[in-house]
Amino acid sequence: MGRLDGKVALISGGARGQGAAEAKLFAREGAQVVLGDVLDEEGRQVETEIRTAGGDATYLHLDVTSEDDWRAAVALAEHTYGRLNILVNNAGIVIRKSIEETTEDDLDRIVAVNLKGVFWGTKHAIPAMRRAGGGSIINISSTAGLVGSPYGSASYTATKGGVRLLTKSTALQHATDHIRCNSVHPGPVETAMLQEALADPTTREDRLRRVPLGRVGTVDDIAYGVLYLASDESSFVTGSELVIDGGATAQ
Ligand code: NAD
Repeated sequence: MGRLDGKVALISGGARGQGAAEAKLFAREGAQVVLGDVLDEEGRQVETEIRTAGGDATYLHLDVTSEDDWRAAVALAEHTYGRLNILVNNAGIVIRKSIEETTEDDLDRIVAVNLKGVFWGTKHAIPAMRRAGGGSIINISSTAGLVGSPYGSASYTATKGGVRLLTKSTALQHATDHIRCNSVHPGPVETAMLQEALADPTTREDRLRRVPLGRVGTVDDIAYGVLYLASDESSFVTGSELVIDGGATAQ
């Protein structure tokens, strides 16, 4: 028996990295998965991989900054699979500039993807989850949504902090709808986003020195935490923060 048997999940940013790992894990655990991204070729590859392994998944183009795209994604989940039970707001970007280098375009872009994207996903998932009798929303924040970052991207930190509190308000306002909402706060995870950030060996070493467990996280380290929050095993958990960071923020 799968931990998500009978559930329908929608995952943003599902074409690669953590989102792709979550899509594959959720499908292995019995969920029917809709995955959306702006990277269509990679997204379709994930869909094919899941189907070849015997799972059920459908990819669609979803730019999280577009409310229309979110409407279409939720409608696809309901029309194809009959309902929506789980939303993972995973899509995210980082713009590596200091505060002084950050332009208005940079700020508009990162807020649109990391914060507005989560807001629109939440807004359009809620009525579908209500129709389904409840659901679970998991918002991927970061340790940068809990503590300040010395690594330059204050715009990223600002959006991820916003996601943390949007999560708590969603949890409080929709508990009576049986919709749970929790945030996940990964430390450094080995994906394209991090490779770009830690390309320089000195930066990588410095970052690793701050992780008590002494390594970078894997996509599955995060996906298993998200799976717990998506499943009924966490039915009494809402408005909470799941930190998966090798101990970095415990110091
Ligand atoms: P990633 O860059 O591999 O994946 C991000 C995904 O989001 C990509 O598939 C990308 O195409 C998609 N995306 C970007 N803009 C989009 C848009 N407008 N609409 C739809 N999809 C869009 O990186 P990742 O590490 O897998 O990131 C997943 C989440 O985890 C992000 O929210 C990120 O901020 C967060 N996070 C990452 C780390 C890390 O170290 N990698 C640490 C903490 C939090």
